[in-house]
Amino acid sequence: MRLNRRLFSLGLGAVVLSGCASGGTGRARPAGGASGLPADLRPQRNAGYDAWVQDFRPRAQAQGISQRTLDQAFRGAGFLPGVVKRDRNQTEFKRTLEDYLAIAASDKRIAMGREMFARHRRTLSAIEARYGVDPSIMTAIWGLESFYGTRMGDIPVISATSTLAFEGRRGRFFEAQLMDALRIIQAGDIPAAQMRGSWAGAMGHTQFIPTTFTGYAVDFDGDGRRDIWNADPADALAGTANYLAQRGWQRGGAWAQEDPGGAFEPQAGGPRFTLGPNFRVIKRYNNSDSYAIGVGHLADRIRGAGPLRGQFPPDEFGLTKQDRVALQQGLTRRGFDAGEADGIIGTQTRTAIEGFQRRNGLPVTGTPSRDLLRRL
Ligand code: CA
Repeated sequence: MRLNRRLFSLGLGAVVLSGCASGGTGRARPAGGASGLPADLRPQRNAGYDAWVQDFRPRAQAQGISQRTLDQAFRGAGFLPGVVKRDRNQTEFKRTLEDYLAIAASDKRIAMGREMFARHRRTLSAIEARYGVDPSIMTAIWGLESFYGTRMGDIPVISATSTLAFEGRRGRFFEAQLMDALRIIQAGDIPAAQMRGSWAGAMGHTQFIPTTFTGYAVDFDGDGRRDIWNADPADALAGTANYLAQRGWQRGGAWAQEDPGGAFEPQAGGPRFTLGPNFRVIKRYNNSDSYAIGVGHLADRIRGAGPLRGQFPPDEFGLTKQDRVALQQGLTRRGFDAGEADGIIGTQTRTAIEGFQRRNGLPVTGTPSRDLLRRL
């Protein structure tokens, strides 16, 4: 389970976080919007894939999946070249903790988190009463995983997981995901045609992969279905709390405290922390220090806390976050759109720098510098 979660988590943070770094609007995609998917995420003819599915069906039946479930699940399903492409292009993109937190606890994610925390207070309290998990932590995980349900993914899960099971690079892992996706359909939790998620099969408000779903999802609202896709996030949030509770969550325990004398310094020269007992439990959800700090800090902000007090050191270009924000504002003011002035030097900022350099007869490097900041 832990291994599966980790394999999965390599992709997840990158997907969700890069989505918001590029200035995503956080608006919900149309439900069941297969027609809105790019061409490479619509099923295409592939003889090898078709043969693989024929081979797979008896294996699924041996595991208790009925012919009827298989027929329903694979009706309209098919090979998705775009999923293979995304799996192969997956790089573990290393961000500094400072940049990660600027995205994970952006003003927008904090504001929407506070709104959701208030709107779902009764549900969150009821879930806390049963599982002991801090409601602000549940809300923060929800915010990081799907921007509070607005980015749950609309790729058909049977097509995605069967494509990746066939394609082979992590075939065994994805065959296990496919098998559990079929179990979920057979249990009646979601009709096959509505089972959608990320390209890697992560589903619903808190992006459960199928094996996590079968292990931990719950029917919290008692309507007979474990529905993590529903507009009402009760089942999804309760499943997340159940997962954390079973991984050792301590009721009332801290994730960490910012502490200038703390032993845990995730970025050299940056803020330090004293860890609480629940830090390692959050890492069971996604095995990354940055993720766990992102969840914990966002949860604190949702509860009304201010930004971290500790400063981060200047970056590799000798610029502090304040300098980088000023650089982005200067570029935009001069007609080279650097996007949102968030202090993160991404593609748009680099393109704006190149434009400015070209216009002013400077060597075109696309790299920020103190000299560039002075010129602006
Ligand atoms: Ca339910």
